[in-house]
Amino acid sequence: MRGEQVQSLLMVRYGEIALKGKNRPFFEKKLGHNIKEALGGLGPFNVAFQRGRYFVQVPPQHTYAAMQRLQKVFGIVSLSPVQTAPLELEAICQQAYLLLQEQYTGPGFTFKVAARRANKRFPFTSPEINRRVGEALLADGLETKVDLHHPQVVINIEIREKEAYLFSRSLPGPGGLPVGVTGRGLLLLSGGIDSPVAGWFALKRGVQLEALHFHSPPFTGEGAVNKVLELCRILAAYGGEIILHLVPFAEIQQKLRRSCPEAMLITLMRRAMFRIAEKLARKRGLGVIYTGESLGQVASQTLENLTVTNAVVSLPVLRPLIGFDKAEITAQAQKIGTYAVSIRPFDDCCTLFVPPHPVTRPHAAALEAAEKKLPLPALQEEALEKIETRVMGSAQETYF
Ligand code: ATP
Ligand code: MG
Repeated sequence: MRGEQVQSLLMVRYGEIALKGKNRPFFEKKLGHNIKEALGGLGPFNVAFQRGRYFVQVPPQHTYAAMQRLQKVFGIVSLSPVQTAPLELEAICQQAYLLLQEQYTGPGFTFKVAARRANKRFPFTSPEINRRVGEALLADGLETKVDLHHPQVVINIEIREKEAYLFSRSLPGPGGLPVGVTGRGLLLLSGGIDSPVAGWFALKRGVQLEALHFHSPPFTGEGAVNKVLELCRILAAYGGEIILHLVPFAEIQQKLRRSCPEAMLITLMRRAMFRIAEKLARKRGLGVIYTGESLGQVASQTLENLTVTNAVVSLPVLRPLIGFDKAEITAQAQKIGTYAVSIRPFDDCCTLFVPPHPVTRPHAAALEAAEKKLPLPALQEEALEKIETRVMGSAQETYF
């Protein structure tokens, strides 16, 4: 990692995970793995861990892409392109000068030096480094001034075990926890605005996801499935590859529609979805179900409806958006990049058969009576047998 810089060097900082006590090595290993996975295709790259930091080397032409990708890796708090210098004051001053020159805009340009001495064997304290490097920069020919409060650039210097690292820019990471450290879940992913955002929040807290989408061919077309594939790719940029399960749902929907009171249809469909989701989750070893439901957003998301859909499964159902307004969810969808795909106009299986007045206060007994009219367990089983599974977001997407 010397200053010749054949490779560009990025310093990656992580935060919350440093606090997790005994789990710390596990978190760090996972984050390192996720960083490598995110950099796939930008090779040859190298990821090295050094007490509280990752150092990522990438070919210079991939620096920008690498920074963009790392800004989506949960667990990362910030990252900086860095230059290195040997642990000698003169070499550090030289590298600091190059950094200052890069940002210099003209006479009166202001700067500040901020040193951090992680390696206490280095013979100067942080304030001494600040002063000495600052003085050297002032004497170096550019017309600059020191401004400790509002400098145009901060020359940061980290003195570590083997080298000094210098940087003037930091980009924010997404925070959160490395995907995979808290567990694995199944995301019910429609093509709508909400569920991809719910998935993003699951990933943010370190839950690795598989996704389940119900589609209703021939009533819903390729367009609807393509939307979901695209949403998985977007989520995979945050969470690593996502296994997507496509379950055909038309038959169940049609049979329910023919035999059940119309007002209950949505609730009954959702109960069937949840049962199928739970079976799949258990088969795949996924401990929790995620949905994009938000309390009161639509008739099927009243407390009563949430209660009777929850009642058919025993796995926990997590709803990260439960307290969000639609406007807040939309803003988040735009921020994470799923919105434009979500609003593509293709029918979702649930929008197909929406009754004009769905029940908002369903009675469990009435639902159960309606369900008894159909061989639902067999139908659900059949739907599961017809599942198609794809791995999305990997360099080579697969289909089996
Ligand atoms: P979204 O914007 O996520 O589609 P929504 O506001 O349209 O949500 P509903 O259609 O009632 O609300 O769906 C509620 C939740 O049920 C969704 O957020 C999603 O988790 C799940 N869901 C709905 N339709 C499907 C589907 N076709 N496949 C998988 N899950 C679905
Ligand atoms: Mg929807």
